[in-house]
Amino acid sequence: MRKSRITGAFTGIAIAALALAACSSGTPGDDSTSSGDAGDTGDTGSTSNPWTVATGVTIDGSPTFDAITAAGKVTIGVKEDQPGLGYLDPVTNERTGFDVDIARWIAASLGYDEDQIEFTAIPSANREQAIINGDIDYYVGTYSITDARKELISFAGPYFITGQGLLVAADNDSITGKDSLTADDIVCSATGSTSIQRIKEETPAQTKEYDTYSACVEDLKNGQVDAVTTDEAILIGYAAQDPDNLKVVGDVFSEERYGVGITKGDTAFQEFINTMFTDGGDIWQAIFEKNLGASGVTGTQPAVDPVE
Ligand code: GLU
Repeated sequence: MRKSRITGAFTGIAIAALALAACSSGTPGDDSTSSGDAGDTGDTGSTSNPWTVATGVTIDGSPTFDAITAAGKVTIGVKEDQPGLGYLDPVTNERTGFDVDIARWIAASLGYDEDQIEFTAIPSANREQAIINGDIDYYVGTYSITDARKELISFAGPYFITGQGLLVAADNDSITGKDSLTADDIVCSATGSTSIQRIKEETPAQTKEYDTYSACVEDLKNGQVDAVTTDEAILIGYAAQDPDNLKVVGDVFSEERYGVGITKGDTAFQEFINTMFTDGGDIWQAIFEKNLGASGVTGTQPAVDPVE
């Protein structure tokens, strides 16, 4: 930890509050979520969602789709402590966020409504194993596509692109970006993330690891660490929750391409999701606006890449 610190002088950069409870923009989007053999679309079960629940969907040659059909429900791995992206409200028990809605949109395109979805929170370090074990049908949670992960699983997407950043105390004027980090700084991140790996490889800072980023943010607020590092889209969500005490600093220093984690080699399922993304630009936009539009997170829908 650095000793000298100006306290109380800074109010932090103003970040608009996340529209966590905002209703959707109402953009109906199109219904073309099929990959050639999806059937008619039916009632959404909810008037506020920009997607519709498909009926009569089949995906030939997809072990994942067969497992979902046999179970009669979709089991999805998510994060639940990342406001704006994947968040479980401890009071209302409601799940919100860009990733959670992307996950719901995929389920709806497969023919499954909210009451046929089982969400399960899985931390960064355990994602590949959960997919390999078949504990989940797919994972949507700030999950960067990397070559190392593609050895173990496959990805659909990318559906979003962000970059690694730094979150510090609002009164910290010594950490201004990645290149300002010194061996005196303690930087916290999640085990198994690209973020912890990069900060170890590319900076002299000391590191601290937890399962979750929210644990790191608690340490930052308590003065136990000097910075939290992960994707800027995640950090902006934490800063928006406590703008008087936290701020995001510096330029991003990586490119993180978010994919949907699926069973390795299930190309039929991968193509189904990729076609959904390609055809569903209006739906993607409505999901983005609803969850991240007011947050200061910028982004446009990236083109999918058949990343096998
Ligand atoms: N996107 C990065 C990763 O997949 C960091 C965020 C996370 O841990 O989910 O490792």
